[in-house]
Amino acid sequence: MSLIVQKYGGTSMGDPQRIKVVAERLLQTQRQGNSVVGVVSAMSGVTDSLLRLAKEVSSKPLERELDMLLATGEQTTSALTAMAIEALGGRAISMTGAQAGIVTNTFYTKAKINRIFPQQILSFLHEGFIVIVAGFQGETSEGEITTLGRGGSDLTAIALASALQAHECQIFTDVDGVFTCDPRLVPQAKKIDLLAYEEMLEMASSGSKVMQSRAVEFAKKFNVPFEVGHSFKTIPGTRVQEESPGMEQVVVRGISVERNQAKVTITNVPDHPGYAASIFSAIAEAHLIIDVIVQDVSAYGTTNISFTLSNEELDKMGDLLEQIVQSIGAGEVRKESGIAKLSVVGIGMRTHSGVAAKLFECLAQGGINIQMISTSEIKIAVIIDEKNIQQAAELTHQAFGLDQ
Ligand code: ADP
Ligand code: ASP
Ligand code: MG
Repeated sequence: MSLIVQKYGGTSMGDPQRIKVVAERLLQTQRQGNSVVGVVSAMSGVTDSLLRLAKEVSSKPLERELDMLLATGEQTTSALTAMAIEALGGRAISMTGAQAGIVTNTFYTKAKINRIFPQQILSFLHEGFIVIVAGFQGETSEGEITTLGRGGSDLTAIALASALQAHECQIFTDVDGVFTCDPRLVPQAKKIDLLAYEEMLEMASSGSKVMQSRAVEFAKKFNVPFEVGHSFKTIPGTRVQEESPGMEQVVVRGISVERNQAKVTITNVPDHPGYAASIFSAIAEAHLIIDVIVQDVSAYGTTNISFTLSNEELDKMGDLLEQIVQSIGAGEVRKESGIAKLSVVGIGMRTHSGVAAKLFECLAQGGINIQMISTSEIKIAVIIDEKNIQQAAELTHQAFGLDQ
C-alpha cells in the first residue's frame, strides 16, 4: 500500500462543486489501494479578502492576529472536503496544522517548520481515514497559531510528504504543470516534463509562483520529489526531482517574470569599507527583503548603490533610507517603481556559454533597455521597465526556442 500526499490549491477549492470533485479524486485515490493525505488551500481569493478585512479594522494589524485570521481560510476548506468525502460514502477527518503535528517557530505570517509529529495522522490513516490537513499553518511549541507565508500550502504538502515518508507527493493546481513561462503571460509556453529541484527553486524564487519557493527549498534539502499537475485532469504533469545526468543538455529550461518591483538608488555613498555594510545591515534589521544590488564604479571617492525590491517592501521601508543617508553622509535617495525582472533559468548554463549574449541581443532587438543585470550559476536576470515585460518574455521565449 502506498502513501500519497495530494495538495489542492485555491482555485481547485473555489466553490462547493469543485470541492466535491476534489473529494471524489481523493476517494478514488484511496480506492485504488493507497493511504491518502489531502492538503487543502483556502478557497481562491479568501486569504486576500481576509487580509483586506484586517486592513479595514486596523492600519497595522498585529501579525499574531493576522495568523489567527488567515488560518481560518484553510480550516474552512479542510472541514468542507472531509464532509464531502463522507457524503460520498468515504471516511475522512479534517485536521488543523496544529492537530497534524506541524510545529513552527514564532515568526508569525512566515513561520518556519521546526518539526512534524505525524503520529496522529498515521493512526487515522491506519484506521482507514482519508486525512485532510489545512494547508499553510502550524503552531508554535507554546500553542500559538502561525502561517507559513503566501502559497504556504505547498510547503505543508512537501513537509508532510517528507515526515510521513510518502511514496508520492502531488501538487494539484489550475495549470497542467510547470511551464516554460507563465502560460497566462506567454500563451505559447510549453509544459516541462522533468525539472531539477534547483531549476524549480530558481524559477519559483524569481517569480514563477506556481510553487512556493520555500516549499521547493524544503523539497531540495530533504530530497522530496514531487509532481505538479492539474487538479481536474489525469494527464501527467511536471516531475521535480534530484538532478540526473543528461538534464544539463537543456541550456534554458524556463523564463520567470516578477512584476511590481521598485528600484532604489543611494547617491554619493563614501567609497570606503563599511558604508555598504551599514546600509544593508539597517535594511536587514528592519526585516526588509531586497533583491538585485549594483554598485557603480567609484568616482571622486564616492559611488552610487542601487538595489531592487518589491513595491510592498518599499512601502514598508518608510523613511528608513533617508535616515541612513543622513547618518553616513551620502547624497540622496531615489525611488522608482514600475520595474520588473525577467530571469532565464537552466542548469545547462553551467556548461554552456553565450546565454547572456543571446538574452541581451534579443532585448536589444526589441528596443528594450536593461537597467540592471544579475547572474547565478544557473540564472541570468535583467531588470527592465515593467511596461516592456510582456514583450520581453515573448521575445526571450522565442529566442531560446522554448515554444518548440
Ligand atoms: P494554487 O492556488 O493552486 O496554489 P497558484 O496560483 O499559486 O495556484 O499557482 C498557479 C499559477 O501559477 C498558474 O495559474 C499560473 O498563472 C502561475 N504560473 C506562474 N509561472 C508559471 C509557470 N512557469 N508554469 C505554470 N504556472 C505558472
Ligand atoms: N491560502 C494561502 C495563500 O493564498 C496559502 C496557499 O494558498 O497556499 O497564500
Ligand atoms: Mg500556490
